[in-house]
Amino acid sequence: MRRTQALAIVLAVALFTISFAKPESRSEEKVNKLDNDNLLLGNPSSANSSSIYNYFLDRKYYVMSYNAPKNIPNWVSWHLDAQDIGTADRQNDFRSDSSLPSYWYKVSNASYSGTGFDRGHNCPSADRTNSIEANSSTFLMTNMIPQAPNLNRRTWANLEDYTRDLIRIGYEAYIVMGSYGNGGIGTNGYKTQIDHGRIRVPSNLWKVIVIIPHGNNDLKRINASTRVIAINTPNSNGASSNWRLYCTTVDAIEKATGYDLLSNLPYDIQRVLESRRDAN
Ligand code: MN
Ligand code: MN
Repeated sequence: MRRTQALAIVLAVALFTISFAKPESRSEEKVNKLDNDNLLLGNPSSANSSSIYNYFLDRKYYVMSYNAPKNIPNWVSWHLDAQDIGTADRQNDFRSDSSLPSYWYKVSNASYSGTGFDRGHNCPSADRTNSIEANSSTFLMTNMIPQAPNLNRRTWANLEDYTRDLIRIGYEAYIVMGSYGNGGIGTNGYKTQIDHGRIRVPSNLWKVIVIIPHGNNDLKRINASTRVIAINTPNSNGASSNWRLYCTTVDAIEKATGYDLLSNLPYDIQRVLESRRDAN
Protein backbone atom coordinates (compact mmCIF):
# COMPACT_ATOMS: atom_id res chain seq x y z
CA MET A 1 0.00 0.00 0.00
CA ARG A 2 2.74 2.43 1.01
CA ARG A 3 4.72 1.51 -2.08
CA THR A 4 1.72 2.13 -4.35
CA GLN A 5 1.11 5.51 -2.73
CA ALA A 6 4.76 6.47 -3.08
CA LEU A 7 4.69 5.43 -6.72
CA ALA A 8 1.56 7.46 -7.30
CA ILE A 9 3.21 10.53 -5.78
CA VAL A 10 6.34 10.06 -7.88
CA LEU A 11 4.19 9.72 -11.01
CA ALA A 12 2.16 12.79 -10.14
CA VAL A 13 5.30 14.87 -9.58
CA ALA A 14 6.78 13.61 -12.83
CA LEU A 15 3.64 14.47 -14.83
CA PHE A 16 3.46 17.87 -13.17
CA THR A 17 7.10 18.57 -14.05
CA ILE A 18 6.72 17.41 -17.65
CA SER A 19 3.61 19.50 -18.23
CA PHE A 20 5.44 22.64 -17.12
CA ALA A 21 8.80 21.84 -18.65
CA LYS A 22 7.39 21.33 -22.15
CA PRO A 23 4.72 23.96 -22.79
CA GLU A 24 5.71 23.98 -26.46
CA SER A 25 4.33 20.46 -26.86
CA ARG A 26 0.81 21.69 -26.21
CA SER A 27 0.24 22.82 -29.78
CA GLU A 28 -3.55 22.82 -29.50
CA GLU A 29 -3.26 25.70 -27.09
CA LYS A 30 -1.16 27.68 -29.55
CA VAL A 31 -3.80 27.21 -32.24
CA ASN A 32 -6.46 28.42 -29.82
CA LYS A 33 -4.49 31.54 -29.04
CA LEU A 34 -4.23 32.41 -32.70
CA ASP A 35 -7.96 31.89 -33.28
CA ASN A 36 -9.66 35.08 -34.50
CA ASP A 37 -6.30 36.74 -35.10
CA ASN A 38 -6.54 39.43 -37.78
CA LEU A 39 -3.74 37.69 -39.68
CA LEU A 40 -4.65 34.05 -39.00
CA LEU A 41 -4.84 33.13 -42.69
CA GLY A 42 -1.44 34.62 -43.50
CA ASN A 43 0.49 37.79 -44.42
CA PRO A 44 -0.26 38.11 -48.17
CA SER A 45 2.82 40.16 -49.12
CA SER A 46 5.16 39.21 -46.26
CA ALA A 47 4.77 42.79 -45.01
CA ASN A 48 7.58 43.72 -42.63
CA SER A 49 9.17 46.59 -40.72
CA SER A 50 11.99 47.24 -43.19
CA SER A 51 10.24 47.96 -46.51
CA ILE A 52 8.64 51.37 -47.07
CA TYR A 53 6.66 49.79 -49.95
CA ASN A 54 5.33 46.91 -47.86
CA TYR A 55 5.41 48.17 -44.28
CA PHE A 56 3.64 46.09 -41.64
CA LEU A 57 1.32 47.98 -39.29
CA ASP A 58 -0.70 46.43 -36.47
CA ARG A 59 -3.48 48.78 -35.45
CA LYS A 60 -4.94 46.23 -32.98
CA TYR A 61 -8.37 46.07 -34.63
CA TYR A 62 -6.85 45.34 -38.06
CA VAL A 63 -3.40 44.86 -39.57
CA MET A 64 -2.03 46.07 -42.87
CA SER A 65 0.74 46.46 -45.39
CA TYR A 66 1.25 50.20 -45.86
CA ASN A 67 2.82 51.71 -48.96
CA ALA A 68 4.61 54.89 -47.88
CA PRO A 69 5.46 56.24 -51.38
CA LYS A 70 1.79 55.81 -52.39
CA ASN A 71 0.44 56.91 -48.97
CA ILE A 72 -2.24 54.19 -49.02
CA PRO A 73 -2.38 50.62 -47.68
CA ASN A 74 -1.59 47.77 -50.07
CA TRP A 75 -4.02 45.59 -48.12
CA VAL A 76 -5.79 45.48 -44.75
CA SER A 77 -6.71 42.24 -42.97
CA TRP A 78 -9.15 41.62 -40.14
CA HIS A 79 -11.38 39.04 -38.46
CA LEU A 80 -15.08 39.66 -37.98
CA ASP A 81 -17.52 37.95 -35.65
CA ALA A 82 -20.55 38.87 -33.56
CA GLN A 83 -18.34 40.25 -30.76
CA ASP A 84 -17.08 42.99 -33.07
CA ILE A 85 -20.57 44.32 -33.65
CA GLY A 86 -21.95 46.44 -30.83
CA THR A 87 -23.57 49.77 -30.18
CA ALA A 88 -20.70 52.26 -30.52
CA ASP A 89 -21.62 55.23 -32.70
CA ARG A 90 -19.74 56.03 -35.88
CA GLN A 91 -16.96 58.27 -34.55
CA ASN A 92 -16.11 60.07 -37.83
CA ASP A 93 -12.79 61.16 -36.32
CA PHE A 94 -10.79 60.94 -39.55
CA ARG A 95 -7.21 61.78 -38.56
CA SER A 96 -3.53 61.34 -39.33
CA ASP A 97 -1.85 58.18 -38.14
CA SER A 98 0.71 59.68 -35.78
CA SER A 99 2.29 56.28 -35.10
CA LEU A 100 3.95 56.20 -38.53
CA PRO A 101 7.73 56.77 -38.55
CA SER A 102 8.27 60.44 -37.70
CA TYR A 103 9.86 61.44 -41.01
CA TRP A 104 7.06 59.94 -43.15
CA TYR A 105 4.34 62.06 -44.74
CA LYS A 106 1.08 61.83 -42.75
CA VAL A 107 -2.12 61.87 -44.77
CA SER A 108 -4.66 64.14 -43.04
CA ASN A 109 -8.41 64.51 -43.09
CA ALA A 110 -8.01 67.48 -45.44
CA SER A 111 -5.87 65.54 -47.93
CA TYR A 112 -8.98 64.21 -49.72
CA SER A 113 -11.01 67.47 -49.68
CA GLY A 114 -12.40 68.51 -53.04
CA THR A 115 -10.73 65.62 -54.88
CA GLY A 116 -13.92 63.85 -55.98
CA PHE A 117 -12.93 60.75 -54.03
CA ASP A 118 -14.22 59.44 -50.71
CA ARG A 119 -11.97 58.60 -47.79
CA GLY A 120 -12.72 54.92 -48.41
CA HIS A 121 -12.26 52.69 -45.39
CA ASN A 122 -10.53 49.36 -45.90
CA CYS A 123 -11.61 47.91 -42.54
CA PRO A 124 -15.14 49.40 -42.38
CA SER A 125 -16.39 51.51 -39.50
CA ALA A 126 -19.45 49.29 -39.09
CA ASP A 127 -17.25 46.17 -38.65
CA ARG A 128 -15.83 47.71 -35.46
CA THR A 129 -18.63 48.92 -33.19
CA ASN A 130 -17.86 46.91 -30.05
CA SER A 131 -16.24 49.97 -28.42
CA ILE A 132 -15.57 53.63 -29.15
CA GLU A 133 -11.84 52.83 -29.29
CA ALA A 134 -12.38 50.06 -31.86
CA ASN A 135 -14.59 52.24 -34.05
CA SER A 136 -12.27 55.23 -33.79
CA SER A 137 -9.33 53.09 -34.92
CA THR A 138 -10.95 52.62 -38.34
CA PHE A 139 -10.79 56.40 -38.94
CA LEU A 140 -6.99 56.54 -39.04
CA MET A 141 -6.07 57.83 -42.50
CA THR A 142 -3.72 54.86 -42.98
CA ASN A 143 -6.92 52.76 -43.30
CA MET A 144 -8.17 54.89 -46.25
CA ILE A 145 -7.88 54.84 -50.01
CA PRO A 146 -9.27 57.35 -52.53
CA GLN A 147 -12.46 55.52 -53.52
CA ALA A 148 -15.04 56.58 -56.10
CA PRO A 149 -18.07 57.76 -54.04
CA ASN A 150 -20.70 55.61 -55.76
CA LEU A 151 -18.47 52.56 -55.44
CA ASN A 152 -17.92 53.24 -51.74
CA ARG A 153 -21.50 54.08 -50.82
CA ARG A 154 -23.30 51.51 -52.99
CA THR A 155 -21.25 48.55 -54.28
CA TRP A 156 -18.89 48.13 -51.34
CA ALA A 157 -21.43 49.19 -48.72
CA ASN A 158 -23.78 46.49 -50.05
CA LEU A 159 -21.12 43.78 -49.77
CA GLU A 160 -20.18 44.96 -46.26
CA ASP A 161 -23.84 44.85 -45.20
CA TYR A 162 -24.21 41.39 -46.73
CA THR A 163 -21.17 40.16 -44.78
CA ARG A 164 -22.45 41.53 -41.47
CA ASP A 165 -25.80 39.86 -42.13
CA LEU A 166 -23.93 36.53 -42.33
CA ILE A 167 -22.22 37.32 -39.02
CA ARG A 168 -25.58 38.02 -37.40
CA ILE A 169 -26.92 34.60 -38.39
CA GLY A 170 -23.99 32.70 -36.87
CA TYR A 171 -20.93 32.96 -39.09
CA GLU A 172 -17.51 34.47 -38.61
CA ALA A 173 -15.22 35.77 -41.36
CA TYR A 174 -11.59 36.40 -42.21
CA ILE A 175 -11.38 39.39 -44.55
CA VAL A 176 -8.66 41.04 -46.61
CA MET A 177 -9.24 44.18 -48.67
CA GLY A 178 -6.63 45.66 -50.96
CA SER A 179 -6.05 47.88 -53.96
CA TYR A 180 -3.62 48.16 -56.84
CA GLY A 181 -3.04 49.91 -60.15
CA ASN A 182 -3.04 53.51 -61.19
CA GLY A 183 -5.97 55.86 -61.77
CA GLY A 184 -9.66 56.00 -60.89
CA ILE A 185 -12.77 57.97 -61.85
CA GLY A 186 -14.32 60.03 -59.06
CA THR A 187 -16.95 62.77 -59.22
CA ASN A 188 -14.39 65.20 -60.72
CA GLY A 189 -13.23 62.76 -63.38
CA TYR A 190 -10.14 60.62 -63.86
CA LYS A 191 -7.20 61.11 -61.51
CA THR A 192 -4.05 59.13 -60.84
CA GLN A 193 -3.05 61.11 -57.74
CA ILE A 194 -4.52 63.52 -55.20
CA ASP A 195 -3.10 65.71 -52.41
CA HIS A 196 -0.55 67.44 -54.72
CA GLY A 197 0.67 64.11 -56.04
CA ARG A 198 1.26 62.54 -52.65
CA ILE A 199 -1.58 60.00 -52.63
CA ARG A 200 -1.98 57.36 -55.33
CA VAL A 201 -5.49 56.71 -56.69
CA PRO A 202 -5.72 52.94 -57.30
CA SER A 203 -7.45 51.54 -60.38
CA ASN A 204 -8.79 48.39 -58.69
CA LEU A 205 -10.14 47.45 -55.28
CA TRP A 206 -10.41 43.80 -54.22
CA LYS A 207 -11.65 41.82 -51.27
CA VAL A 208 -11.47 38.21 -50.14
CA ILE A 209 -13.89 36.93 -47.48
CA VAL A 210 -13.54 33.46 -45.93
CA ILE A 211 -16.77 32.50 -44.17
CA ILE A 212 -17.13 29.73 -41.56
CA PRO A 213 -19.72 28.89 -38.91
CA HIS A 214 -18.83 30.57 -35.62
CA GLY A 215 -16.58 28.31 -33.51
CA ASN A 216 -13.04 27.43 -32.44
CA ASN A 217 -9.92 26.04 -34.14
CA ASP A 218 -10.68 28.09 -37.23
CA LEU A 219 -7.62 27.09 -39.26
CA LYS A 220 -8.55 23.42 -38.94
CA ARG A 221 -12.21 24.00 -39.79
CA ILE A 222 -11.51 25.71 -43.12
CA ASN A 223 -11.77 22.97 -45.74
CA ALA A 224 -12.41 22.46 -49.45
CA SER A 225 -16.13 23.25 -49.02
CA THR A 226 -15.60 26.55 -47.19
CA ARG A 227 -17.30 29.51 -48.82
CA VAL A 228 -14.96 32.20 -50.13
CA ILE A 229 -16.21 35.43 -51.73
CA ALA A 230 -13.67 37.30 -53.87
CA ILE A 231 -14.42 40.54 -55.73
CA ASN A 232 -12.37 42.91 -57.85
CA THR A 233 -13.98 46.23 -58.81
CA PRO A 234 -12.79 49.11 -60.97
CA ASN A 235 -12.35 52.32 -58.95
CA SER A 236 -15.00 54.07 -60.97
CA ASN A 237 -18.03 56.15 -60.11
CA GLY A 238 -19.83 54.37 -62.95
CA ALA A 239 -19.51 50.95 -61.30
CA SER A 240 -22.66 48.92 -60.73
CA SER A 241 -24.13 48.86 -57.23
CA ASN A 242 -24.34 45.05 -57.55
CA TRP A 243 -21.15 43.59 -56.05
CA ARG A 244 -22.03 40.16 -57.43
CA LEU A 245 -21.13 41.37 -60.91
CA TYR A 246 -17.52 41.70 -59.73
CA CYS A 247 -17.06 38.23 -58.26
CA THR A 248 -13.81 36.61 -59.27
CA THR A 249 -11.37 34.00 -57.95
CA VAL A 250 -8.62 34.38 -55.37
CA ASP A 251 -6.26 33.02 -58.03
CA ALA A 252 -7.12 35.98 -60.29
CA ILE A 253 -6.43 38.44 -57.46
CA GLU A 254 -3.14 36.71 -56.64
CA LYS A 255 -2.16 36.95 -60.31
CA ALA A 256 -3.03 40.66 -60.47
CA THR A 257 -1.25 41.58 -57.22
CA GLY A 258 1.58 39.06 -56.89
CA TYR A 259 0.40 38.23 -53.36
CA ASP A 260 -0.15 34.81 -51.81
CA LEU A 261 -3.53 34.94 -50.09
CA LEU A 262 -4.72 32.34 -47.55
CA SER A 263 -1.08 31.23 -47.30
CA ASN A 264 -1.50 29.67 -43.83
CA LEU A 265 -3.95 27.11 -45.22
CA PRO A 266 -2.65 23.75 -46.48
CA TYR A 267 -1.70 23.99 -50.14
CA ASP A 268 -4.35 21.50 -51.30
CA ILE A 269 -7.09 23.55 -49.66
CA GLN A 270 -5.74 26.81 -51.07
CA ARG A 271 -5.75 25.29 -54.53
CA VAL A 272 -9.44 24.34 -54.32
CA LEU A 273 -10.70 27.50 -52.59
CA GLU A 274 -8.66 29.89 -54.71
CA SER A 275 -9.82 28.55 -58.05
CA ARG A 276 -13.54 28.55 -57.20
CA ARG A 277 -15.79 31.49 -58.01
CA ASP A 278 -18.55 31.98 -55.44
CA ALA A 279 -22.02 31.35 -56.82
CA ASN A 280 -23.72 33.78 -54.33
MN1 MN B 1 -3.45 30.47 -55.92
MN1 MN C 1 -2.72 31.55 -51.75
